[in-house]
Amino acid sequence: MPDLPEGCLLGSHVSISGGIDKTPERAREIGETAAQIFISSNRQWKVRELKEGEADRFKDSVGVLPGGMHAHACYLINLAKPPGDQREKAINTLAKELRRCHELGIPHLVLHPGAHTGSGEDTGIERIQDSLNVLREREPDLDSMVLLETMAGSGSKLPYTFEQLAEMREGIEDPDRVAYCFDTCHVHASGYDLSTESSYEECMGQVEDILDLDLVKLLHLNDSKHEVGARKDRHEDIGEGTIGEEGFRCLMNDARWDDTPKILETPVEDDWKQDYGRNMETLISYVD
Ligand code: ZN
Ligand code: MN
Ligand code: MN
Repeated sequence: MPDLPEGCLLGSHVSISGGIDKTPERAREIGETAAQIFISSNRQWKVRELKEGEADRFKDSVGVLPGGMHAHACYLINLAKPPGDQREKAINTLAKELRRCHELGIPHLVLHPGAHTGSGEDTGIERIQDSLNVLREREPDLDSMVLLETMAGSGSKLPYTFEQLAEMREGIEDPDRVAYCFDTCHVHASGYDLSTESSYEECMGQVEDILDLDLVKLLHLNDSKHEVGARKDRHEDIGEGTIGEEGFRCLMNDARWDDTPKILETPVEDDWKQDYGRNMETLISYVD
């Protein structure tokens, strides 16, 4: 089991099989101090019901993770759909998942905002904003917050620049209810080079200027199979991809991220403990 440095908030995506109440202890099995789950299924519309007592048992056990448990929304949700049945389905599913997070006391629900599928980027961003406004009108009282994730820009997925991401958030009616999740693979693949100390610093300067560091509530740590700017979303083991050791060394020793939970979504072959454990060890070995 990897031995985490004092105060390091690091973990991975973990499975909800057997119940959400089992997930904090599951993450602890390999020494994680923060983790992420799918609130339901990543590729099905149906939002799973909680079992009797499941929320209470989860809340009783989540304290074992100092960096908390975070959630990821279903991949099928596309808030950039035009008004109609499909948009309705997307907003409804997101609303249910956000309500589930609220019931569980999970602070953040990470979302792939949407794909414009040919309607154009500006229209796509406007539609995502409209959908977020509708969500807020329907569910005004939830404590949990949506985190818009930086995307690699494959297909017509948005956003793939920090400007688009900031615009998306700032243009909604209640931006205080929405913040960001920064995925290293996606950011690098979208064109912000994270592979050297100087390019890492340049990218972080843009995060500070355009996004605001305080609004980045969660980090997804993944290396990238594809080159910087390839706009393809394929995760790789830490240190084995085109970001590589230098970039992740910078990130792991960057005090600006000390209090931000770091979540691995690196490829899992057949043994998640071994695969995530190995990637945690790699990251820990980079800490000076
Ligand atoms: Zn994601
Ligand atoms: Mn991610
Ligand atoms: Mn990805």
